[in-house]
Amino acid sequence: MCYNQGMKQRVLSGVKPSGKLHIGNYLGAVQNFLKLQEEYDSYFAIVDLHSLTEKFDPKAKSQEILGLAIDFLALGLDPAKSTIFIQSHVPEHLELSWIFSCLTPVAELERMTQYKDFVARGHSPNAGLFAYPILQAADILIYKPKAVPIGEDQLQHLELTNDIARWFNNRFGQTFEKVKPLLTNTPRVMSLLDPAKKMSKSLGERHVIYLNDEPDVIEKKLARAVTDAGKDGAMSEGTANLFKLLEIFGDKESFEFYKEQHSSGIIRYVELKANLAKLIAHYFAEYRQRRKELEKKPEYVREVLEIGQQKAQMTASPTLQEVKQKIGLIL
Ligand code: AMP
Repeated sequence: MCYNQGMKQRVLSGVKPSGKLHIGNYLGAVQNFLKLQEEYDSYFAIVDLHSLTEKFDPKAKSQEILGLAIDFLALGLDPAKSTIFIQSHVPEHLELSWIFSCLTPVAELERMTQYKDFVARGHSPNAGLFAYPILQAADILIYKPKAVPIGEDQLQHLELTNDIARWFNNRFGQTFEKVKPLLTNTPRVMSLLDPAKKMSKSLGERHVIYLNDEPDVIEKKLARAVTDAGKDGAMSEGTANLFKLLEIFGDKESFEFYKEQHSSGIIRYVELKANLAKLIAHYFAEYRQRRKELEKKPEYVREVLEIGQQKAQMTASPTLQEVKQKIGLIL
């Protein structure tokens, strides 16, 4: 580790390799990664173990993992600046997770909204899904970061991470500092078809815009996006979501123009949606191109991940040793 890197504050975040990245992942988290890597000692994990808590196809899993690494690189994460690695390649996370499990009351996990929502939708959760916030706490705390760039849906889990850190410190002595969340201006991008819910591929393909959707696909998906009239003159959630996207992907003039049209009640959503589709497709054009190039170089991507693993372990391993020492596991 060079001197400079040692002086920098650290950030860490993880993304599940469970299909393709969508604009919610990008605007809520990954876009922030790109800025942060310029200033921070940055760690970005492909959290493959978390993706096993959902239904998955074992034949597709390795391609999803490699695909996410390709996405990270195609979007501009730079292996010279960031440590990019696969969670399961650093098994220290799992050891720490077990130790944290023994400090975490079951009732705290039962409070987690993401888990409760899943159960409320009639699913029967596996034990991994129930316990995943503990593994997440280990993923984070093992690197002792200052902050984590995440979307709003992860705030409750980060609170639990900080609780676990506090429980550990109280019982075994000061070890972990409080970790801050870093949110973007769009911490919660909403679904196109059900804008009361956050954009998530678990809702279905037509609810999300994937970063590598081709222009005609983006156009079709946006054409179906819900833009119902809001109550009492207020903007509806669906319309507000599209305006937010327009603000991000478009220029100030077109945003003001459609805002004005909306206020005057003469807005043509067909036109707005077609324009927004072009803007999003254009924004990710370079990424789509770089992605295609990187797909032809899996060896390079594997090499990046191997170096990432080594760098991650150099940081994670001393924390695990310190923890084991403090709890009396070192003879
Ligand atoms: P995941 O794919 O669930 O691992 O999520 C990766 C990152 O994207 C996490 O930091 C999430 O908080 C963020 N994220 C996921 N969905 C959205 C969304 N609809 N809006 C904003 N951020 C999101």
